[in-house]
Amino acid sequence: DLLLFWHRRDLRLGDNVGLAAARDRTPQVVGVFCLDPGILDNGDVAPARVAYMIGCLERLRDSYAQAGGQLLILQGDPRQQIPALAKALAVDAVHWNRDVEPYSRQRDTAVVEALKEAGIEFRTTFWDQLLHEPGDIQTGAGEPYTVYTPFWRNWVKRSKAAPLPAPEGLQPLSAEQVDAAKKAGCIDLPSAADLGFTWENGFPVEPGEQGALERLEEFCDGSRAIDDYDEQRNFPFVNGTSRLSAALKFGAVGIRTVWAATEATYQQSRSDETRSGVQTWQQELAWREFYQHVMYFFPELAKGPYRAQLKDFPWVNDEEQFAAWCEGRTGYPIVDAAMRQLNEMGWMHNRCRMIVASFLTKDLIVNWQWGEKYFMQHLVDGDLSSNNGGWQWSASSGMDPKPLRIFNPASQAQKFDAEAEYIRQWVPELRSLDTGALVMGKIAERDRGDYPAPIVDHKIQQALFKDKYKAQRA
Ligand code: FAD
Repeated sequence: DLLLFWHRRDLRLGDNVGLAAARDRTPQVVGVFCLDPGILDNGDVAPARVAYMIGCLERLRDSYAQAGGQLLILQGDPRQQIPALAKALAVDAVHWNRDVEPYSRQRDTAVVEALKEAGIEFRTTFWDQLLHEPGDIQTGAGEPYTVYTPFWRNWVKRSKAAPLPAPEGLQPLSAEQVDAAKKAGCIDLPSAADLGFTWENGFPVEPGEQGALERLEEFCDGSRAIDDYDEQRNFPFVNGTSRLSAALKFGAVGIRTVWAATEATYQQSRSDETRSGVQTWQQELAWREFYQHVMYFFPELAKGPYRAQLKDFPWVNDEEQFAAWCEGRTGYPIVDAAMRQLNEMGWMHNRCRMIVASFLTKDLIVNWQWGEKYFMQHLVDGDLSSNNGGWQWSASSGMDPKPLRIFNPASQAQKFDAEAEYIRQWVPELRSLDTGALVMGKIAERDRGDYPAPIVDHKIQQALFKDKYKAQRA
């Protein structure tokens, strides 16, 4: 038997559901990853994300070699490339893990059709990236949840699968098979720069399985930052979150492994406070699953607002103000700090993602989809389900039961960056100014230098947004 395992967002060997099932059948498992122009050239790609992904692939290639096997790389449309490679290698079956995104589902359906036509077996029923697959967590009426809290209650009480071991004793391809793979288009792994993406600013977590596992261990067991997560997660200057998002997006770590680590920490917790830290972090994992489940059942979310009253919203969509938001020069220090963090790091703290998303939609009255796209073009962890979920929540167009939320940038900064440390870090030209002025965003003209005056007035814009919103509801 020879099996082809197609990696997509599961760039690791350990705790990989579809791969473990392939290894159970035979040691002759060869891995493949296809660099898909349908994704890489669609204009929604961040250099940081491509560079992180390539870093993961380099490590995955090494892990395969260490396990005795091999990772092949294709470049082109997977709908042709995967079946063609399967044919060229005369494999007995192709395995892959499922995905919730509309693009991936259409692509996978096409690959299945091509494999069927070629008479090649496929197994594609594995839900590797989720603890519970779509359809497992339903309301009493058998419907998918559209509200997070009841979803979480149901989700958390279900027992969760244990981590799976990494496959061992894989067998490499023969010289003839390697030759056939090359003829079918297999190439050496290119660098991100080869693909046209330059990124030199590092990553919030080291690419690859090892880096992700070390970070998980550090967060849950080493520093045990997870114990204080409940208290610390909202302060952008504090390193209080896991920074595992890119690893979870690309499956550098298995979700069962992550869950087991949190459960072990929970068991060892000695106080209610630390247990609540762990549970709050588990709730974030459930948010990730919630957004994937709803993307699966409501793929129209990817295209626009969920709620009717936001469907034809009269956005102002001022291009200059949008550019100022992108570049971090709105004159609102907390907003600008956050956007500069995104531009420089390819990552932004969650509290700040909510602040800048609220500012773009409620203060600048710009269509949230512009922000959604900009985030996808910059985030190392950019992920359709989570990003769309976060933006729809912030724009009041999504599945949030609270009808309207408007963040006041000054009160947000007061609560979560009271000493203006985060602002000073990312807006260095304001570093020497008074904490109060920075937090309140009230910077005297003589102190401003090149820093812009506020491009809009929060009070006025908030009232304007509310008027527009009410008119929509009527
Ligand atoms: P931690 O606080 O350590 O959380 C652990 C993990 O839980 C994260 O790595 C992530 O996988 C998941 N998670 C946490 N919060 C959320 C959430 N609100 N929704 C879904 N999953 C969550 N997250 C992404 O992974 N990709 C995105 O493209 C993305 N875009 C966002 C856009 C907006 C407007 C908002 C408000 C949030 C977005 N998030 C996104 C969610 C969240 O901001 C990030 O997951 C988090 O900041 C990543 O940092 P961390 O790994 O340190 O998170």
